[in-house]
Amino acid sequence: MKTGVITKGIGGFYYVDTGEAIYECRARGKFRLMDISPLVGDVVDIEVDDVSKKGYMLEIHTRSNEMVRPAIANVDQVMVVFAAKSPDINMTLLQKFLIYAEQVGLNIVVCINKIDLDENQDYKAVMEMLQSIPYKVITTSTKKLIGIDDLKLALKDKTTVFAGPSGAGKSSLLNLVQEGLMLKIGDLSKKIDRGTHTTRHAELINLNMGGRVADTPGFTSLELNNIEPEMLEELFPEFRKYKDCKFTRCLHDSEPQCGVKAALQDGKISTMRYDYYLSLLKELKAIRRYK
Ligand code: GDP
Ligand code: ZN
Repeated sequence: MKTGVITKGIGGFYYVDTGEAIYECRARGKFRLMDISPLVGDVVDIEVDDVSKKGYMLEIHTRSNEMVRPAIANVDQVMVVFAAKSPDINMTLLQKFLIYAEQVGLNIVVCINKIDLDENQDYKAVMEMLQSIPYKVITTSTKKLIGIDDLKLALKDKTTVFAGPSGAGKSSLLNLVQEGLMLKIGDLSKKIDRGTHTTRHAELINLNMGGRVADTPGFTSLELNNIEPEMLEELFPEFRKYKDCKFTRCLHDSEPQCGVKAALQDGKISTMRYDYYLSLLKELKAIRRYK
């Protein structure tokens, strides 16, 4: 018996990487009976023939998490990529990506790319705000080759899904991390941008330095409607230390003696973030009303 990671699944065959070889495996009937479908990223036990490199999957290890778009299990982190300029950072969109990643329970790294185009270094204010949350921030330029080593370090030995609007530079960055990746990733993200809805399965690409990246960008469409208003605060990590509110079910809106609002007044929580919280809260309450 061997143990490996599913890096690809096509038509009932799963490609399992044990670190020494890739084995083509079929899932046993018991998975179908139990209604479990193996996912890319799953750690699995396999029984294989070492000559043909073929075999069967015996067991799927418990998943630490599960993403829907792309369908990948055991993701370590999401790299949210935005351009400092061209286009300017859309703060609402950036925060939406952060909320989505928090919802999946993923570790988040933000990469602000194209800093070569930001002559006034406007990105620094965004970076400081994000760091205060605290999120790890990497600043890069694929044109001036800035920050690429930081990016490599962040990706090494981890399974990462890239996310962020198209044109932010995800393909360009990955191509610098590992030569030959761009064609693949660029092609796929462009397919998605055109709105073609092909059911295709995600694939994990091995990085030569160690670690894996998903070949499709994450959360190309964002849905926030399955969050309960009471749970929204959990997705704002910087609220955590200030939740000493008078009411245990405080929504940090119009309630008196609210720790979050006090922190806002003291400048410990960013007004932009709090305003975004309120706008989402309003949206989620409205959704609940229609349910
Ligand atoms: P993706 O859609 O996120 O994969 O973005 P791409 O990697 O396709 O890049 C979009 C455009 O931005 C391309 O024309 C790139 O050449 C350009 N670009 C990427 N990174 C940088 C950068 O650091 N600086 C500048 N000036 N342009 C960049
Ligand atoms: Zn409160």
